[in-house]
Amino acid sequence: MSSPRGVVCLDCDGVILDMLASWESIAADKFGPITLHEPAEWDMQKRYGMDKKQVGKVWDELDWSRFDPFPGAPEAVHRIVDSGYDLAIVSGIPEEKRKDRETNLKKVLGFVPYLVLTGSGKADKIPVLQNLGAYAYVDDLWDHIERAEGAGIPILGYVAPPDRQHYRYAVPDLKTFVSNFLGEKPSDPVT
Ligand SMILES: [Mg+2]
Repeated sequence: MSSPRGVVCLDCDGVILDMLASWESIAADKFGPITLHEPAEWDMQKRYGMDKKQVGKVWDELDWSRFDPFPGAPEAVHRIVDSGYDLAIVSGIPEEKRKDRETNLKKVLGFVPYLVLTGSGKADKIPVLQNLGAYAYVDDLWDHIERAEGAGIPILGYVAPPDRQHYRYAVPDLKTFVSNFLGEKPSDPVT
């Protein structure tokens, strides 16, 4: 992390990798068509109105090394790196998933980025972001964005569902965030 332009930190699930697509496909295979009850909810029981046992079975079958990327996300990651920023992926998953995540990112990006795992989806990412000296941060969980705002991280991107596009920092996807980010500050080094 030595670029004078600063460190861009990205969440992974919901920003680069479409974990939910894999999750939903397993759930649909096992239990039939699924219904989205609460789109901004990450507790799968609430999100899909499924019971605990069903949700547990889907998690058990999920292959963490094979998630597809969102359209344009790999190219967006490369644009960040090619523009001279340092890149760190800050992901709320446990260490035992590291190998799968690295395999997945290698396949999707062509390289394994600097990867910090914070343990769980609910863990506070701010200490990690501050430690990295994050200049920009992108996440799809509003709690993390709100905390990052409170911590004074200069540039934020909230990859939000359609009904939250009016939120502060909201973008539909990483590709849009990166276009805005690089367009606004094409050449200014971070001081
Ligand atoms: Mg996420």
